[in-house]
Amino acid sequence: MRGDPIQRAIDEDLVRVLYAQDAMAFFTHWFAIAVLVSIYWDDMPYPQRFFACFAFYAVANCASLGLWLWRRRRPDALTARNWIRLHALRGVLLYSAPGLAIWFAFHSHQADLPVLHTVMLVTLAAGVFMSNGFDVLNFSTGIIFVLLPAIVLLFGSHNFDRTILAIVLAFFFCAINIYSVSYRKLFQRVVQARVDQQQLAESLAEQKQVAEEASLAKTRFFAAASHDLRQPLHAIGLLAASLNDASVTPAQHGKTAAHIVNNVEALNQLFNQVLDLARLESGVTQVIRLHFRLDELFERVGSQYRPQAAAKGLALRIAPTTMVVHDDPVLLERVLSNLLSNAVRYTEDGAIWLGLRRAGRRGGGYIEVRDSGIGIPAAEQERIFEEFYQVANPQRDARQGHGLGLPTVKRLVGLLGGELALRSAPGRGSVFRFSVQAGDPDGIVASLSDAVVGGPSAQGRHVLCIDDDPSILEGLTSLLGRWGCVAQGVRDEALALRALAEGFVPDAVLCDYQLANHRTGAQALSAVRDALQRNGHEGAVMLLITGDMASGELAMLATQGIPVLHKPVTPARLRRTLETLWQQAQRDGARATA
Ligand code: ADP
Repeated sequence: MRGDPIQRAIDEDLVRVLYAQDAMAFFTHWFAIAVLVSIYWDDMPYPQRFFACFAFYAVANCASLGLWLWRRRRPDALTARNWIRLHALRGVLLYSAPGLAIWFAFHSHQADLPVLHTVMLVTLAAGVFMSNGFDVLNFSTGIIFVLLPAIVLLFGSHNFDRTILAIVLAFFFCAINIYSVSYRKLFQRVVQARVDQQQLAESLAEQKQVAEEASLAKTRFFAAASHDLRQPLHAIGLLAASLNDASVTPAQHGKTAAHIVNNVEALNQLFNQVLDLARLESGVTQVIRLHFRLDELFERVGSQYRPQAAAKGLALRIAPTTMVVHDDPVLLERVLSNLLSNAVRYTEDGAIWLGLRRAGRRGGGYIEVRDSGIGIPAAEQERIFEEFYQVANPQRDARQGHGLGLPTVKRLVGLLGGELALRSAPGRGSVFRFSVQAGDPDGIVASLSDAVVGGPSAQGRHVLCIDDDPSILEGLTSLLGRWGCVAQGVRDEALALRALAEGFVPDAVLCDYQLANHRTGAQALSAVRDALQRNGHEGAVMLLITGDMASGELAMLATQGIPVLHKPVTPARLRRTLETLWQQAQRDGARATA
């Protein structure tokens, strides 16, 4: 309960209000002592006991001031709860003397003393209510000592007037207790509202900072992106203009055309990188996990970078591993390619190491890409994961990259369920590391090169393609034909259903997302699936192809496991996806019949 932030805030506020009036109360209690002593002065019963009682009252009052001063000087000396408890003890000491002193009134010869003393106590009770009513402990201990002895003695006096006074006092005692309950609730609500408001203000301030940082990041992103896109465009514009120059020789024309091609290629690469990142951001990239041998993938990427490394005199070492992992080989290959290309780019001598470390991890390990290169200063180690951020390329020379590799790697690793860690020191190289899950050697369905570029199982497969663009349909069916598939292309859902009705039984249905007449590929696939099920053909795999990235429906389809490929789809990616889907369907079918 006390760990609760609201309770803590209530306690802290209670301490503030309880102690706030204690300095003033010191004078009030001296005034009460003076008034009480003066009304007893003429006829003081048991003077020694009387003076002892009032001396105790005076000492308790001074101790209360001492406590107030202590809290002012050392507010952190005790916890809020202990300050509250100590204040309640002070109340017991302070109010017991005047409360119990009413006993003297009943032993005095002055008949009006009990009433006068009672009036004095009611005034003190009002003070207890005002200054301690917020806290149950302080209020109840104080009020009991102030009023209960008077009520008991007035009742016990067997005098009609005093009994009436006792009843009124008892009523007052009950009323003041009931009021203090509402008083406490009100106090708690006020504190709660204050805490809520404070939390709201803090969260707003936090959100504002996040929004400001995001806005700054966006500004930097656009500044860098527009620079990097403008640069090759500008070059292409200038080069293209020079093609019109009649004085330029054919040899020079050839050179210019080659420069144009290079710049177009650079622009294309940059666009692809930006689109890849945007796809990852929008959550539509699908992870297709397979069981495969990690050393096959290491060898695949390693062989791509070995010539570049060798050209710089660097050794590229791949640690042998027998591990089978369960991961998306295509996405993992992109991660490793990016990391290896950086390692080669930022290392001038020494070696690059790619390998797996178990590091005591059961059911997996960590893939590490190490280099002995220039390293990354600690201050830059977070920023290098921002889009377009580069440590040492103020001129934004496109030959040194664009600063999109690591942001892509970080998102890919996150998508694959890992976390990218970096250890680096300037001049001592860098280590990028992330976790992978162990796979099942019995679950390996194809060699990795088949899984990545497509295996032989497309031969003879029937594929139905739905796309309202005739040229895409033509390209797709002829590509499938070259793979040995029997492909039929149709332009909409109705024609697809007609093809099925005419006896075409597909092994796969490929469908564009945006179809004519406001129909979507998701609707068409669902109609085709229903028609196939009605005819007892359930084995066909479905695949959506789209150029749309922001659609919420697409993200939903991706989470539901309906495969979505994004344009431009490379033939290798299409084939790998189809092969994987067929292999998965085959395995699922075998399991179902087993
Ligand atoms: P790019 O390499 O295209 O500039 P990245 O996003 O891949 O973009 O990397 C961002 C920055 O991080 C690079 O500009 C470079 O300064 C730094 N960096 C990345 N990898 C390494 C590495 N292995 N060694 C040293 N610096 C690196």
